Amino acid sequence: MNLKEYIRVIPDFPEPGIRFKDITTLLKDGAAYRTAIDGLKEMADGLGAEVVTGPEARGFVIGAPLALALGVGFVPIRKSGKLPGETVEAAYQLEYGKDRLAVHKDAIQPGQKVLIADDLLATGGTIATTIDLVRQLGGEVVGAVFLIELGYLSGRDKLAGIPTHSLIMY
Ligand code: IMP
Repeated sequence: MNLKEYIRVIPDFPEPGIRFKDITTLLKDGAAYRTAIDGLKEMADGLGAEVVTGPEARGFVIGAPLALALGVGFVPIRKSGKLPGETVEAAYQLEYGKDRLAVHKDAIQPGQKVLIADDLLATGGTIATTIDLVRQLGGEVVGAVFLIELGYLSGRDKLAGIPTHSLIMY
């Protein structure tokens, strides 16, 4: 199955000049979604992840089923102000915009092996911030997996030393 065929590219969203990769067309197809999660699981096998984490909202759609497939738990990373418990936070720059991400202080234990998952690696800003949060809690980032990577934005450079895999490359 060629998963790229299930991604819809929408020009000039959310800003002129951006060619948005819309994954909803993949998610609504049960076989394609299953194939994507199976593929990410294969990439993650052997990394020894004890927990998966991913940033809202599309990181949940990839990270949570991947965690279930791996037989480990899932830790949500959310925009600032959404989590009810005590959090640590970090600021980040998006391909288009700026925000703060947060994670519960007790969500990851010192020394715990953490796999990061998201729908798409663009400039790497979101993932760099996610790594920052995991490390603030003492977690060990053992890998990062993405459904899609925009290779021309070189986000991978921000993941130096971390095994990084993506299923679909642009
Ligand atoms: P980065 O921080 O520049 O690597 O951007 C990655 C984040 O922005 C991911 O969490 C994506 O959900 C989102 N994102 C950026 N570009 C796209 C796109 O073309 N389609 C879907 N999500 C995108």
